[in-house]
Amino acid sequence: MTLVRKNISKISPYEAGKPIEEIKRRLGLRDVIKLASNENPFGPSPKAVEAIRRSLSAINRYPDSNGFYLKKKIARNLNLEPSNIVLGNGSDELIDIIIKTFAEEDEQIITADLTFLEYRIIGNVTGRAVITVPLKYFKYDLDGIRRKVNKKTKIIFIANPNNPTGTYVTRFEVEDFIRDLPEDVLVVLDEAYDTFIDVNDFPESLSLVRRKKNVIVLKTLSKAYGLAGLRIGYAVAKPELASYMEIARQPFNVNSLAQAAAIAAFDDKKFLRKTKEKILEGKKYLYENLAGLGLAFIPSVANFILIDVQKDGVGVFRDMLKYGVIVRDMKQYGLKNYIRVTIGTKKENERFIKILKKVLN
Ligand code: PMP
Repeated sequence: MTLVRKNISKISPYEAGKPIEEIKRRLGLRDVIKLASNENPFGPSPKAVEAIRRSLSAINRYPDSNGFYLKKKIARNLNLEPSNIVLGNGSDELIDIIIKTFAEEDEQIITADLTFLEYRIIGNVTGRAVITVPLKYFKYDLDGIRRKVNKKTKIIFIANPNNPTGTYVTRFEVEDFIRDLPEDVLVVLDEAYDTFIDVNDFPESLSLVRRKKNVIVLKTLSKAYGLAGLRIGYAVAKPELASYMEIARQPFNVNSLAQAAAIAAFDDKKFLRKTKEKILEGKKYLYENLAGLGLAFIPSVANFILIDVQKDGVGVFRDMLKYGVIVRDMKQYGLKNYIRVTIGTKKENERFIKILKKVLN
């Protein structure tokens, strides 16, 4: 096909977790659970739902292009200024905006080989070269990445915690890494799962922003905040970087319902606390039961676990689907014998273990 740009025709598209409705329809099932996209299994915050209800009658108007109230709310939460914040239609969109804003077409992006696929896909779609560095013991190898930095390097994407491994790089590792980098390289710390962290040495990424480093921190309301369907995330950076991203984004990228819901969700501290508490309990349950099944898994600081199922992961994924349990095979990531499971409600976790056991036998 000569109409399409050459690099587009070469890209394998992102495969999303299968939606519940699709599996019900395709397999004729009534009771399906989804543990495939690292969503909040406890629903959205009721305060966010109420805020959407209140905002519905105004959807004839365009959303606030500057997200004034939401930025103010986020800034106050983080003890920063609204000029530090850029809103996005999910953090996915912010990845796109960052690449368009900062990387010339002949400049390079570096990330890990086994990480969130969108860095590579969006990089390739926009025509930038993406260099990938193997993980070391399932963890980002920052020394390895540092060795790949050259004059063409512009952006380094680090998912922290990493998806799909659930591993993280520490405060000291990140500080060292950034100290060593050339001035004109931008580091993006994608902290989509930071709300589930249960360790003490996680990076204080906002302090890097306060110290005016060339760092952009990405956050999302899709995970712990339970608003994946609304599409809302934000970037935190020094105002100089944020202001250029503002130029590159679409004027109405974050819809009015998402803005209203996010403001309310930030006030629902109880919802967030409860979510984290229950996810950590679920993690403990899954660890114990996976070990009981004799399966190896990667210890995770996020709300999902990468499991070595000791046989073809795609087969396990398909067999589990027949019992109405949607997980994620890791074929896209090149991990043959693995699946990734999102920590669900207590009932969902129990059903997952029961079905996994059945399928593996
Ligand atoms: N970053 C990472 C590491 C992710 O795993 C995800 C979601 N799968 C995202 C970003 C995108 O999240 P969203 O666009 O929903 O904010």
